[in-house]
Amino acid sequence: MQVVILALLVAALALLVLALLTSNTTLALISIVVSVAAAAVIVRGRRLRQEEAARRGAEADRQAKLEADRDETTRVLAAAAAEAGRRAARESVPPAQPAAATASAEPSPEAAADRPDDGAATAEPADEPPAADTIAPLGRHAQSRVWVRDGHPRYHLAECRSLNGSLPEGIPLAQAVEDGFTPCSMCDPDNKLAG
Ligand SMILES: [Zn+2]
Repeated sequence: MQVVILALLVAALALLVLALLTSNTTLALISIVVSVAAAAVIVRGRRLRQEEAARRGAEADRQAKLEADRDETTRVLAAAAAEAGRRAARESVPPAQPAAATASAEPSPEAAADRPDDGAATAEPADEPPAADTIAPLGRHAQSRVWVRDGHPRYHLAECRSLNGSLPEGIPLAQAVEDGFTPCSMCDPDNKLAG
């Protein structure tokens, strides 16, 4: 490119000198055309260099971004691998605790309420032990199931007629006493359970 510009400029100068020496206007015009051509080559060369520089810059940016992406991907993969390792370690521990908890869970009150006449007064395992002071007077019947209704102060045996047409809740006797319920005189749960 530099050589072309130099050659054009030399040619233009030579043509100009020749035109002046020979007073030939045609040679002078050609000299001007060659000069303009040299200027055009210079401008075009500069633009090409600028475009090349811009292209290199964009390429460098792209490379840098690729590098950054690769780093990020590596980091994410490493984190995922670490998480997978932790999960595998966790799952290799036998799940004895949840299974035992499920097995010992008491049947839900709803299930018991479906068949209130079917031996509901017999002892059942409780969710949690009642307070010690209510166990002592109730003795071994503390965990016997009795039936209560919201808004009614008595607790009943499952077969009590006063429960007819209602949806009683089965709770341990100890809890009924603790919650302030008193025995129904019709079904007499205290004496029936004791006897
Ligand atoms: Zn009753």
